[in-house]
Formats: sequence, structure tokens, C-alpha cells
Amino acid sequence: MTYNPDNIFARILRKEIPSTFIYDDEYAVAFADIAPAAPVHVLVLPKGEYASFDDFVQKADAATVAGFFSAVQRVAVQLGVDQTGYRLIANHGVDASQTVPHFHMHILGGMPLGGLLADDVLAR
Ligand code: AMP
Repeated sequence: MTYNPDNIFARILRKEIPSTFIYDDEYAVAFADIAPAAPVHVLVLPKGEYASFDDFVQKADAATVAGFFSAVQRVAVQLGVDQTGYRLIANHGVDASQTVPHFHMHILGGMPLGGLLADDVLAR
């Protein structure tokens, strides 16, 4: 996947599009998903130019990968979902329906999330 610097999350990181960061450190920022799929739905993004999870793990150095995942854990604690449970989702590519080509982790929680895949997908 080639990184497109005009993707919407790159523009949010450059502050060309306003967004409210609920978390911001050396490795990551987090903000609420604009179309929440659960009562808690937050996106955590590395600050560098990585198109997807695959791209991130291939290209980022070990400290950056570790720093990012630590940030995801801290955001979950900040949201309180470490107490109740949460799901992490990172969509890579077409079959996963990745829509924004800047690597991001979804944190979903705040309700029982059911099975791994939605019933309509399982019914196909
Ligand atoms: P994915 O399908 O994994 O690429 O997820 C992209 C996510 O970004 C979707 O859940 C969208 O609702 C979310 N999204 C798109 N634009 C924005 C935005 N401007 N602010 C917050 N979330 C966004």
C-alpha cells in the first residue's frame, strides 16, 4: 500500500482538519470515531506515515511499534474500558474494508460486543 499524504487522518494530524485529540504523545494520537459503532469508539493513530497495520510493522522501528501499542493500552485505561472489556480492530486492505489509508486502531467498548464478526457477514 502506497501512503497517500492527502488521506483524512494525515490532514487531521497536520491540523488542516479540526479534531479533538483525547490523547497525544510522542507515538500516537487518539480521537473519537465520527460514526461510532459502539458507545465507546475511539481511533488511535501513529504520527508517522504508515498506510496500514502491515505497513506500520514493516517500516516502523521497534520503539515506535512498542510506543504505539503502549499508547493504545493507555487510551483504553483513560476511557475506562479496561475495567469492562474492549475490542481492538485494525483493518488492513480490501477484504477488511479499510477506508482510511493511514494505520489506525479502533478501540470499541461500552457494551457487550457479541461475536467476532457481525451476523450478516456470518450468514453469507
Ligand atoms: P477503517 O474502515 O478501519 O479504515 O476505519 C475508518 C474509520 O474512520 C471509520 O470508522 C470512520 O467512521 C472514521 N472516520 C472517518 N473520517 C473521520 C473523521 N474525520 N473523524 C473521525 N473519524 C473518522
